[in-house]
Amino acid sequence: MIPIYRSKEELRQAFQRRNFSLGMVPTMGALHEGHLSLIDQSVAQNEQTLVSIFVNPLQFGAGEDLDQYPRRLEADAALCAARGATAIFAPTPELMYGENHQTTVVNFDLENLYCGKYRPGHFRGVLTVVAKLLLLPLPDRAYFGEKDRQQLFLIKRMAEDLDLPTQIIGCPIIREESGLAMSSRNEYMSEEMKEQAPVLFELLQEFSQSQPGTTASALRKMAQERLQKVPLAKELQYLEFADGQSFLPIEGELPAHFYILIAAYFGETRLIDNLEVKRP
Ligand code: AMP
Repeated sequence: MIPIYRSKEELRQAFQRRNFSLGMVPTMGALHEGHLSLIDQSVAQNEQTLVSIFVNPLQFGAGEDLDQYPRRLEADAALCAARGATAIFAPTPELMYGENHQTTVVNFDLENLYCGKYRPGHFRGVLTVVAKLLLLPLPDRAYFGEKDRQQLFLIKRMAEDLDLPTQIIGCPIIREESGLAMSSRNEYMSEEMKEQAPVLFELLQEFSQSQPGTTASALRKMAQERLQKVPLAKELQYLEFADGQSFLPIEGELPAHFYILIAAYFGETRLIDNLEVKRP
């Protein structure tokens, strides 16, 4: 089994001054093939790979699933070891945030868009924990999934803005055969829901083929109509189009490079997905 670090000092000592390259994969655990693909990429590009497993209370809002979120450190540690990771950092909330924790990392321009509009405070929670996690071992590279596209964009921006010494690497979305993007939250869904949820990826693929001149609002209306016909799809939370460079919302005609971002509820489970579109 690989070592599980539980103190900041041990982690600093093991990694800050080193003579090997270090990749880091920050996660909230309940690992699936999506997380494991990030570990694979880190293992391929670095001599050692550190996986952090921490369900970060700061990024959950009131009434969200902080208490229900699946936690299974032992099984996760075995998966990390099997994929070649070298160590795990598994702090407690008390360790990460002492009683007097006051400082947060905020991107005022982008934190309230898309997911941030419906999850107030979520992205400052994410940025704060990712900054703290990276500043302990100071990895050469850190790996994040394109599954959480807005998060990846914000983390890249933060690393650049704060001159973090870590290169941020985005990794492709891993999907079930059905097309459903893998997520620890898929465990909340019934089999029937899982059969219907791939409609989100189908919509993204369809929309990526739309003719030049198609507007965001026309596609939003189509998405709403389509989801109304899917029995277990409860609600389209948003369908948005983000500019490929600035990540700002596009309302009119779609440019050559953009992201389609979707969030929808299946029962109580909130699912997100996205697709990058680059036209020649
Ligand atoms: P989480 O444990 O949900 O915070 O995710 C940890 C990391 O794994 C984040 O960088 C996610 O974007 C990434 N991730 C989660 N699901 C997938 C997936 N299906 N494909 C690729 N990366 C993923």
